[in-house]
Amino acid sequence: MNNETPTALVTGGSRGIGRAIAQTLARDGFQVILTYVSRPEEAEAVAAAIVEAGGQARACKLNVGDPQSVTDFFASEIKDKVNLAVLVNNAGITKDGFLVRMKDEDFDAVMNVNLRGAFICTREAAKIMSKKRYGRIVNISSVVGQMGNAGQVNYASAKAALLGMTKSCAKELAARNITVNAVAPGFIETDMTASLTDEVRAEYAKAIPLKRMGTAQEVADAVAFLASDKAAYITGQVLAVNGGMYC
Ligand code: NAP
Repeated sequence: MNNETPTALVTGGSRGIGRAIAQTLARDGFQVILTYVSRPEEAEAVAAAIVEAGGQARACKLNVGDPQSVTDFFASEIKDKVNLAVLVNNAGITKDGFLVRMKDEDFDAVMNVNLRGAFICTREAAKIMSKKRYGRIVNISSVVGQMGNAGQVNYASAKAALLGMTKSCAKELAARNITVNAVAPGFIETDMTASLTDEVRAEYAKAIPLKRMGTAQEVADAVAFLASDKAAYITGQVLAVNGGMYC
């Protein structure tokens, strides 16, 4: 890793959508730091595949739900170590349940990782990017943050709040030539959706005008666009990648 090549930090880059984003940004010429929290082997395998394909990548452990470790991580691994150009706040978890049975800790855990984690990463990245007068921040929200979803009041709340955060940060950081946008995927085939029953999948498919779930690569391509110079005049926007579900 060097201090010159524009670098993309992808949280939760070990699997699913984050892995596709890490691989796509590496293909686009970014040096990539991808983070994981629980599965080092999968993260190392993604980094190794990128290097094997001629790119530059490193896997790092980072629990975005632990504020102190995030600030420590930016101080020790990012600041003055790499040329941070792109932050993708992708790390996310679900702890689904109906409202009346949802435990406080399940609400807090989802808010902590999906919202506060993105907030702290954005704050730390913004300090570094502001000095360079350049940055691209992409937040991975969700269609359920836009339309709501029964059984996901915690997750939908966090993903909706992420859109407010995106728009506010876009306004604050525009003067520093830092764009902040969100991508709102619909239902995408990953570990997160692997446990859905066939019945639920069939229900979802009915609600998707394009009649299929999306792929991680289709989300990654939208992120890559927002991270590129082609999106230089786009900030504070939400790009839906959802097969036409919520227009
Ligand atoms: P996934 O397959 O479950 O992968 C989640 C990733 O986040 C993993 O890399 C995981 O690391 C990491 N992670 C989990 N908790 C973390 C924490 N506390 N700190 C740092 N990293 C953490 O999820 P996915 O389906 O690819 O989803 C990626 C993003 O897209 C999430 O924000 C999700 O909410 C959003 N999204 C997904 C869908 C969908 O249908 N799949 C739809 C809309 C939005 P480990 O591998 O180490 O556990």
